[in-house]
Amino acid sequence: MFETGVRQFRMAMGIVWGRRLNARNIGRLIEDSLATLAEFGEPGTDVRQLVDGPFTDPEAQAHFATQGLRRTAGRLAEQSPFYARRFEAAGVRPDRLDLAGLGAIPVTTKAELVGRPGEFQCADVRRHLSTRTTGTTGRPAEIWLSRYETELWPALGALSAVLRDELRPDDIMQVNVSSRATAAVQLDVAGCRLVGAGCRVLGVVPVDEALDALAEGGSTLLSASPSYLAELLIAARHRGLGPGDFRLRRIQAGGEVLSPSLAAAVRETFGVDEVSDNFGMTEVIPVTSRSCSQGHLHHDINTGLVEYLDLETGKPAAPGALAVIVITPFFPYRDCMPVFRYDTRDVVRRLPEGPLTCEVAGVPATSPLLGKAGQLLRLGPDDVVTPRQLVEAVEALPTQPWPARFRATIHNGRIRLTLPVAAIDGFGESAARNHFAEAGLDVDLAVVSDEEATTLRQVRSDLHERTFAARPVPIGA
Ligand SMILES: [Zn+2]
Repeated sequence: MFETGVRQFRMAMGIVWGRRLNARNIGRLIEDSLATLAEFGEPGTDVRQLVDGPFTDPEAQAHFATQGLRRTAGRLAEQSPFYARRFEAAGVRPDRLDLAGLGAIPVTTKAELVGRPGEFQCADVRRHLSTRTTGTTGRPAEIWLSRYETELWPALGALSAVLRDELRPDDIMQVNVSSRATAAVQLDVAGCRLVGAGCRVLGVVPVDEALDALAEGGSTLLSASPSYLAELLIAARHRGLGPGDFRLRRIQAGGEVLSPSLAAAVRETFGVDEVSDNFGMTEVIPVTSRSCSQGHLHHDINTGLVEYLDLETGKPAAPGALAVIVITPFFPYRDCMPVFRYDTRDVVRRLPEGPLTCEVAGVPATSPLLGKAGQLLRLGPDDVVTPRQLVEAVEALPTQPWPARFRATIHNGRIRLTLPVAAIDGFGESAARNHFAEAGLDVDLAVVSDEEATTLRQVRSDLHERTFAARPVPIGA
């Protein structure tokens, strides 16, 4: 029975290993899982819980994390020039490292990774595939993956996806993320291959082409950024398409704030129950975070350590406080260019203390992503406005200005919110001001022409990839 196999696998992951995992064994588990599902139907909830990790006890979690940190730091001290130097400067002995002593090691910044990529390369690993960050903040970082990593990550991802019923052999996954996000795309392609599903990699192409593939091409799964979903939704409505025109069963959003207004509209038009809003970042793959039915963001504790640090002090944030997410992927899940205590600059709010009641209550959780630390607006010592608050408020306008285009700055202690005309067209400035006041935002509105909209706030769907499809064929060609 594959349940036994999964259980053994989970236990094995919990054991302190200094060696790499065998992706082929995980591939076999996927095959066993699929065969059992075909025969007996859905896996039980106990099997699904196994996917989220064997440790619900905080003490066991702390022990597991300490072992993971020591194993990872021990290897980096020997193989990574950057971390060998960093640990030595901090006076840290990897074999004695624990959670309390972690603060002695400075966080790793994106600037360090961009500035000295060669020093992050481990000496005992050969490079195979490079991937670049495609976020909207600054110069891209280039991360090299080993062949082992490109085999291991999709195998781990596909096993979880099968056990959660997120990927089936008869699925067709449509991928509308940037084609330059090689690691993310390779994960999707290889994951589909392991499960025997179809994979349609399109990139950030003109939305009408993506819509054709969804409607006529019969895609059942869709992966896209919230801003691209917004553009798809508007194009679908423009063409008069509705739930009956699609075969989608699940949409996977990520990389940006997904507002409740947009998510509800996407569910309605595309006829899906679930638009999941997960967190993944090139620099810290395969450590990811998943949203639950109660709107928390749950952070993986199997493949790495996730810290929530106070924005001011850099120390662990208090319950209820804003925190920046710092991630350490563990060995043997990373081996080519691992990072240790990587500062994602992504901000969340810690949940108040107390037990959770959601379906993944055993896995640590925070609020959803609130935006990048550098984009917070500070009105006072305890008065911080996050990008999420602004995106949610703008996208909740009755004019449905999706994806939200705005600029927010502080003038004389108040937020000045710049919107394109279309965002308040037919609604009016004073109604808009009341709308924001009801959302707890006291704003001073400024309105610019719609031509200027794309200069206000960069979104991922701005990374358009051009095709010849929309171009008229010249006479005589
Ligand atoms: Zn939850």
